[in-house]
Amino acid sequence: MAEAQRTDAVTMDDIVSLCRRRGFVFPSSEIYGGLGSSYDYGHYGVLLKENVKARWLDAMVRERDDIVALDSSIILHPRVWEASGHVEGFTDPLVDCRFCKKRYRADHLPDSQCGQRPSKRPGETESCDLTEPRQFNLMFETRVGAVEETGQKVFLRPETAQGIFINFKNVAQLARRKPPFGIAQVGKAFRNEITPGNFIFRTLEFEQMEMEYFVPPHEADEWYRYWIEERMRWHTGLGLRESHLRVRAHEADELSHYSSGTSDIEYLFPIGWSELEGIANRGAFDLTQHSQASGTKLEWVDAGTGERFVPHVVEPALGLNRSMLAFLVDAYDEEVVGERDRTVLRLHPRLAPVKAAVLPLIGKHDGMVARARALHEELRRVAYVEYDDNGAIGRRYRRQDEIGTPFAFTIDEQTLEDDTVTVRDRDSLAQERIPIGGVRAHLLEALTRPWKTPKAG
Ligand code: ATP
Repeated sequence: MAEAQRTDAVTMDDIVSLCRRRGFVFPSSEIYGGLGSSYDYGHYGVLLKENVKARWLDAMVRERDDIVALDSSIILHPRVWEASGHVEGFTDPLVDCRFCKKRYRADHLPDSQCGQRPSKRPGETESCDLTEPRQFNLMFETRVGAVEETGQKVFLRPETAQGIFINFKNVAQLARRKPPFGIAQVGKAFRNEITPGNFIFRTLEFEQMEMEYFVPPHEADEWYRYWIEERMRWHTGLGLRESHLRVRAHEADELSHYSSGTSDIEYLFPIGWSELEGIANRGAFDLTQHSQASGTKLEWVDAGTGERFVPHVVEPALGLNRSMLAFLVDAYDEEVVGERDRTVLRLHPRLAPVKAAVLPLIGKHDGMVARARALHEELRRVAYVEYDDNGAIGRRYRRQDEIGTPFAFTIDEQTLEDDTVTVRDRDSLAQERIPIGGVRAHLLEALTRPWKTPKAG
């Protein structure tokens, strides 16, 4: 992890405390003391995560003709993981300290703290007693079957990709098109991670959004470059600042055994530049392995010409939770407005958990409440919209700012006279009056027009 610092001073603590305060994310099993590297998602966290997922599916499936969706099982036949190389090779090198009993990833030792003296690195004090690195498999095991002893050992999938490869034949037969074509999947993955998680950056269970793009072998390099660019466009199009993103090609000694090229899209998290998404040129490795191990030929056969080949695979793989974290970090802002502090999430409107708030200026005024409730009923049919009449209007605006609601529609005295409402813009704080009958169209238009983060300057 590089030493780079962000120019704006967002810390992981800022994000953790906002997420907790506003109910985006809670530590998991908290009433039992918590479980490390596990988190539960509250109301706004669920909505934000669903929006990130929906935008990924839009870009991968809805807006294209060449990619179809899949939802494979979390528990697959155990031989899948032998053929894929995970049983043998999905390991981290771990080092134990015999003195303090702490466990470290060997490749993370320079960034780790000694269990006894946190100001020192492991191995730097006299009492440290480190073992040689040992390989530790990251897959969680469980058993299928009623009887513990005779049950079959299976794994919780550590990635969604293998479910796609083993369905290649099913999907290719139905896709009715020649490679290049892709299969996209969003779903949970599980890894027995040892290193501390840095909030939702690294967790035991997480969701992946992976797409396997099957191409004629001689086109693989071209598509690899295409997908790096395409994925960068997705992140920036949804508001991540270009200055906080970079592409890092893996060195030859970092490449996985199957890969002829891998690039990470890295984001400048508060912990430094770290992987956000990986794009790998996986060659024919996966289809060949599963063909050999299963005895089912996974190849492309042209029904007309009889041409056949094993497609190569280009894979963009993004963690949903990690992506959500990057959007939160990039959107987080604090400013002083009229001598008062304001915390605001400048999220892309299409990612924002709540799209608009409907607020009667005076929460106890029957006329305003009735109009506001009616508008809320109308808008909630097309978007997530909140009604709030509780407390001073300034406080209600602040609350919506903190959860990133891009628009607020306020009903006041004038509404009762001329049927207009004010629209307040989260980012500029500009207010304008529009007819109440035009609010729905105004909102829908605002949610579809291109958007650029005001933080880019
Ligand atoms: P890392 O080097 O951070 O462990 P990786 O290279 O092992 O990640 P991949 O196997 O390429 O990760 O997985 C694809 C994506 O899944 C990653 O880019 C990341 O966004 C996400 N991801 C991987 N492991 C985790 C995890 N433990 N928690 C949350 N997201 C994860």
